[in-house]
Amino acid sequence: MKASKMLISTLKEAPNEAIIDSHILLLRAGMVRKLVSGVYNYMPMGKRVLNKIQEVIRKHMDEAGALEILCSAVQPKELWEESGRWYKYGPELMRFKDRHDRDFCLGPTHEEIFTDIIKNEVKSYKNLPLNIYQIQTKYRDEMRPRFGLIRSREFLMKDAYSFDVDEEGLDKSYELMKETYKKIFDELHLHYQIVLADTGAIGGNGSHQFMALSDVGEGNIVYCDSCGYAADEEKAESKMEPYNTDVVVQDLDEVHTPNARTIEEVSSFLNISEKDLAKCLIYYARDKYVCVLIRGDRDVNEIKLGHALDVAEFELRLASDREIEELGLVKGFMGPRGMPLEIIMDLEIAEQKNFVTGANKADYHLINANLDRDFKVNKIADIRLAKDGDICAICGKPMKGEKGTEVGQIFKLQDKYSSSMNCTYLDENGVNKPMIMGCYGIGVSRTLQSIIDQYHDEYGIKWPVNVAPYHLVVVPVNYKDEEMKKLSDEIYNEYKKLDNEVILDDRDYKPGFKFKDWDLIGIPYMIIVGRRANEGIVEVKDRYTNEKVEMYANDAIEMVNRMIKYQLGEEM
Ligand code: ATP
Ligand code: MG
Repeated sequence: MKASKMLISTLKEAPNEAIIDSHILLLRAGMVRKLVSGVYNYMPMGKRVLNKIQEVIRKHMDEAGALEILCSAVQPKELWEESGRWYKYGPELMRFKDRHDRDFCLGPTHEEIFTDIIKNEVKSYKNLPLNIYQIQTKYRDEMRPRFGLIRSREFLMKDAYSFDVDEEGLDKSYELMKETYKKIFDELHLHYQIVLADTGAIGGNGSHQFMALSDVGEGNIVYCDSCGYAADEEKAESKMEPYNTDVVVQDLDEVHTPNARTIEEVSSFLNISEKDLAKCLIYYARDKYVCVLIRGDRDVNEIKLGHALDVAEFELRLASDREIEELGLVKGFMGPRGMPLEIIMDLEIAEQKNFVTGANKADYHLINANLDRDFKVNKIADIRLAKDGDICAICGKPMKGEKGTEVGQIFKLQDKYSSSMNCTYLDENGVNKPMIMGCYGIGVSRTLQSIIDQYHDEYGIKWPVNVAPYHLVVVPVNYKDEEMKKLSDEIYNEYKKLDNEVILDDRDYKPGFKFKDWDLIGIPYMIIVGRRANEGIVEVKDRYTNEKVEMYANDAIEMVNRMIKYQLGEEM
């Protein structure tokens, strides 16, 4: 491909909204362009990368025996009513009506559709198990679309669904997908951690997430080096620190704490540890306000809180300052004693004696507060977020924290959809039974950006060869120079015979400008044809190490080809 005939959309600066490196580079390298918030168009370079990622996914899914189909993004309300999700899914679901006033949505995921397809196509145990998948565009009206393709409102997903006759079959299908995902993410050169996960809105039991490790990841992982336990912080179990039961219960007292509102302010004013405080938060849960008590140094795990209150994630939110005021409470000085709302208390603080909490009166806190003697609660539950340093529930050793981006998730759905949607089969004895399902997602477009996140430097992207938009770029320092033009053309034509993934930068720009473009786009190899062209000597640059070596043009072609074949795992 000649650069003069290409659409190269590099930018000197990224738009202000891009704050993380991978998003900045995605835009600067011209991989995508934003259409509206959370919606992107793929430009030629980005589309090539996207295609290559899909090829890797397809290869391994096909090898695992999964069958590819392609469904519409448009889904009728009726199927979502059958599964019971039309009302449960919340505002993330993009709903619309057709001209006949019929309700539809743009699929955020396809459980309903796949279940319906198999329900209609498969009647007998003889046709099971089955695993079908697609690579298709999904829509989710995310509350906060951000970080480019990491959290967008339209994105490409590979979603697969398995159908088995029983749990044992599901376990096998699930394990096969877990192994397949490992092969996929290994081949995509991602560094990742597999963690136990919550099953969220999809439901069912048993789930793992594939988290691409990232300093800017939205997901927090806790893992234990000793026993290998790893879980999403939302799911992670941790043991409570052993509590000293000999502590003598002290008399309740009210203390003046002028202007000490936050956990830090109160603990420093009273000269106590944050662990000796009970933090009091007000949540709005579906249709009522609830008071949440948790240890001062802890954060609430909203997934666990949702489970404890039996409300969905989207039905739960922190109350605003105004709502707190309207409830007659004083922010910064709230506590369980005299609290007019239902109270839910975390297990850990419930075990604790003599803690400090708000007195429900401006500028006052209570010291030596104790559950039951000084106040009652409606429920005690594990609602805290696990974190770095927590004790592993399996082996008792301290766990570590790490951040990651979820690039894939697998679920055991069991009969959640097949029972409600009547997706059944006849077994050997002619008995009708629900199929036992699993579902398996990979965020294809998110994966593209996660690769950038793990493979870049200050100059741009460093694509691994198998997903790079092209393998090699030949850059003449000055294409108008006879000798340079001749040698560049020769190299380009020779290399093209070996591998079509080559660009000739025949553009009439300063060499520095051209080099910058290719460093930014992240082409793995560059052959620079400069002042020694008349001797047949060129420079080869490896984008991964940024090292350059001089050699004869023929050797350069041979070496680059060998390196690329090697990295693609192909025989010479
Ligand atoms: P998250 O917790 O990040 O919102 P999720 O658990 O809701 O994701 P799944 O329903 O498991 O997502 O979807 C399968 C995969 O699709 C995810 O693992 C992720 O890689 C990708 N994905 C989900 N939401 C988005 C999004 N808004 N933008 C890009 N990719 C997404
Ligand atoms: Mg997920």
